[in-house]
Amino acid sequence: MEVLLALGSNLGNRREILESAWKEIGHLPETKTLRMSRFYETQPVGGSPNQPEFLNAAGVIETTLLPQVLLEKLQEIEIRFGRVRKEHWGPRTLDIDILLYGDQIIATLTLTVPHPEMLRRRFVLEPAAEIAAETVHPVTGKTIREHDRYLDAFEIGEQK
Ligand code: ATP
Ligand code: CA
Ligand code: CA
Repeated sequence: MEVLLALGSNLGNRREILESAWKEIGHLPETKTLRMSRFYETQPVGGSPNQPEFLNAAGVIETTLLPQVLLEKLQEIEIRFGRVRKEHWGPRTLDIDILLYGDQIIATLTLTVPHPEMLRRRFVLEPAAEIAAETVHPVTGKTIREHDRYLDAFEIGEQK
């Protein structure tokens, strides 16, 4: 299954953390990394004021890990990079979200796919559009590129 991921970091050596995390994702069982976007510098959204800027990226992987198992493996990687779960939306060394898992729609207590916030976050859609422009969002039926352009056109969403 092709899976679209969002990665972010706003603590420590952000670039190195994202690059190493991407490498670790490639070492997961049954998983291959296909392509990663450039790094995007973005202002933090929500959470406490005066947080450092985020570095965001998106990646496409090919995996046969089940969604819940993939989530657990990604959370292990987050923890290995020193992520401490304190305040929601607080500073973090590493955040990895599953945006799309093929065209599956998943709603469990611990996993919602497509990621519910992805369509209104520029810091998610912009890198995602770089590497998965033609990928169709299974709920809206529109491509990532269309969603990204929509945010641009109307200057809505959480990030300008
Ligand atoms: P947001 O989800 O708004 O980007 P966040 O990334 O800061 O917020 P976290 O603290 O990283 O939120 O994650 C909280 C929980 O979200 C995780 O423990 C996980 O179980 C759940 N979750 C639900 N859907 C997803 C998804 N698609 N990708 C990653 N985590 C998810
Ligand atoms: Ca997130
Ligand atoms: Ca997360």
